[in-house]
Amino acid sequence: MTKITVAKGDGIGPEIMDATLDILMAAGAQIEIEEIEVGEKVYLAGNTSGIDKTSWDVIRRNKIFLKAPITTPQGGGYKSLNVTTRKFLGLYSNVRPCMSLHPFVKTKHPIMDIVIVRENEEDLYAGIEHQQTDEVVQCLKLISRPGCEKIIRFAFEYALQYGRKKVTCFTKDNIMKQTDGLFHQVFDEIAREYPAIENEHWIIDIGAAKMADTPEAFDVIVMPNLYGDVLSDIAAQITGSVGLAGSANIGEECAMFEAIHGSAPRRAGQNSANPSGLLQGAVMMLTHIGQTAVAEKIQNAWLKTIEDGIHTDDIFKNGISKFKVGTKEFAKAVISNLGYKPSNLKTVNYSKNPALNLPKYKRRPAAKKELVGVDVFVHWNGTDPQELASAIRKIEKPGLNLTMITNRGIKVYPDGFKETFCTDHWRCRFKHADGLQVLKSDIVDLLAKAVDENIDTIKTENLYLFDGKSGYSLAQGQ
Ligand code: NAD
Repeated sequence: MTKITVAKGDGIGPEIMDATLDILMAAGAQIEIEEIEVGEKVYLAGNTSGIDKTSWDVIRRNKIFLKAPITTPQGGGYKSLNVTTRKFLGLYSNVRPCMSLHPFVKTKHPIMDIVIVRENEEDLYAGIEHQQTDEVVQCLKLISRPGCEKIIRFAFEYALQYGRKKVTCFTKDNIMKQTDGLFHQVFDEIAREYPAIENEHWIIDIGAAKMADTPEAFDVIVMPNLYGDVLSDIAAQITGSVGLAGSANIGEECAMFEAIHGSAPRRAGQNSANPSGLLQGAVMMLTHIGQTAVAEKIQNAWLKTIEDGIHTDDIFKNGISKFKVGTKEFAKAVISNLGYKPSNLKTVNYSKNPALNLPKYKRRPAAKKELVGVDVFVHWNGTDPQELASAIRKIEKPGLNLTMITNRGIKVYPDGFKETFCTDHWRCRFKHADGLQVLKSDIVDLLAKAVDENIDTIKTENLYLFDGKSGYSLAQGQ
């Protein structure tokens, strides 16, 4: 018996959760339920995170959380409970299977069966943002080696567990050579440990286009957070309906399972919502806690119900569907199909799935780190980079010389183009003229001189070599 935390959520949440739990219990799931209240009521009672401390205690104690969608009230500084839960509980992996159910659910892609594995904790979603000048705001994109190793290993382990043949990586490392470059590099390293699984890398733009056009070319796709957020919605939508997909958020200790859709407030209380998305989340939960036989029984019964043409309003199509049913009746139909298998859709068989092997991240020995310069960002309202360079040269020190100025990443000094549009946000790169190491105290002196010269410095980034390899990007045009 596994104790799980359940939140029935808002809008259609209670109806689809009741339907899902009825199916789980009828199938013989060995679960004990502890219910908590999160979402709209908690938000409106004045708690901007939508969850109180006692509920956190329950979630952390039980470790497995089945959550119905919740409504985030508009305005008023309410924080997304999903994002908070993923980050607080270290749920680094978001898994979203997207499978079409052709010919029983209308879809443009009859043979689509992909799983998006999205990194869930870092990237631009660290939410570290600053306004730096009148004209420029910044969002910090953080990609870490542990973050990459954990999610990429998870993708390969998932592929092994579910007998999948290929893992594809999507990044934009032709542009972001450090951040996406690290993700791609770690992908190549980890792929070598799984020789039985095919691996490939696509640049995200053409990869996304290919996925939307020819999804049958893909199997498991792993990617950083932002790309995964966007592409997993597209993938779910093109299977036929967002109402059919579930998602798992998995961490080293805890895991949360849900539908991918929201609380559909306009459908609430009408017994018309499709419980399939949450049920798919619950099936993933059962495999995660080792109840694979029950998971398999439910999944096959669900596939058979869809195949029988017993459809809720969102997927009902004349000529394809046979019976339009409500949420409760759909759940009853799945229950009466328990023990049966689909005839046309692919029967699932989870019983021989190996367990995931996810060792704890091991920190590598520190690299030799050499400080070789600094980028000083300056707020300046002029337009001629030569003029800025003359002002900046006044703060140079022996061993710390101005080597270039860029504006939004484009080199504008030396040898810039007069056509390049410039904002009030300038990066001035200082390095040792002979490429030697520089001292932190030299950088402090440089900044002190900038104060004396009335140069408005807004931030600095140190330039390092790690084991002799450049830890910073060149300018565009350099
Ligand atoms: P939504 O997913 O709730 O609804 C989008 C459309 O899909 C609507 O037409 C809705 O009727 C339909 N739909 C969604 N689920 C369905 C189902 N199971 N059966 C039948 N039809 C279904 O998205 P939204 O309208 O943008 O958001 C509504 C609320 O949900 C917002 O407050 C939002 O913040 C919240 N939300 C919560 C989650 C979550 O808790 N995981 C996710 C997304 C949105």
